[in-house]
Amino acid sequence: MDREKLFDVIKAIAKEIEAEKELLTDLDNAIGDGDHGINMARGFKAVLEKLPNLAEKDCGAVLKGVGMALVSNVGGASGPLYGTFFMKAGDALKGKMEINAADFLASFSSAVAGVKMRGKATEGEKTMLDALCPAERAMKEAIEAGKSLKEAVSAGADAARKGSESTKDIIATKGRASYLGERSLGHRDPGAVSSSLILLAIANTL
Ligand code: ADP
Ligand code: MG
Repeated sequence: MDREKLFDVIKAIAKEIEAEKELLTDLDNAIGDGDHGINMARGFKAVLEKLPNLAEKDCGAVLKGVGMALVSNVGGASGPLYGTFFMKAGDALKGKMEINAADFLASFSSAVAGVKMRGKATEGEKTMLDALCPAERAMKEAIEAGKSLKEAVSAGADAARKGSESTKDIIATKGRASYLGERSLGHRDPGAVSSSLILLAIANTL
């Protein structure tokens, strides 16, 4: 993935989030405060506005810029978490003008570790990690088996979608949904769904 492709990926993520804004808001209405779609769409709109300023930067700096725009514009719990995700992803790609499969995996893993640390959460708590962690495992397995970046990310997107579906069966123990206890059962976690949409947009662009 060269920088041009990276910019296409970021634009595709922004488009997917904007297109699914209402779904994310509806999901958050069921177990949270109904702002996840609005928050994410606002954040990625700010990302799009910032992209021209990042045109000359390396892949690491571009993703860092994305993360900083998200931190300042998304708000809620997910703002600092997605901000950390993209900033950590960028840290792992410092100075790179291209991203190969191994770079992508290292960057993704570091991003997921950043979210875990920042949110003091782990898989199985009905959060975005229930999409991100299975995606990380699926991509690792695919890349270790010699699959291409495109194939690996497709496998990751698939795992993220299944992971986001599985959050229906989890009682939330982190974030706003945890106030509901057992009443959070039967609903998908909005952050897991947004993470799954992000992976889908990356896979479709590659
Ligand atoms: P808020 O809950 O402040 O309204 P959002 O609605 O934008 O923020 O985001 C909610 C999403 O954030 C949840 O669906 C969940 O996936 C994610 N989330 C909340 N707390 C955590 C955490 N500690 N670790 C990981 N993800 C979290
Ligand atoms: Mg919310």
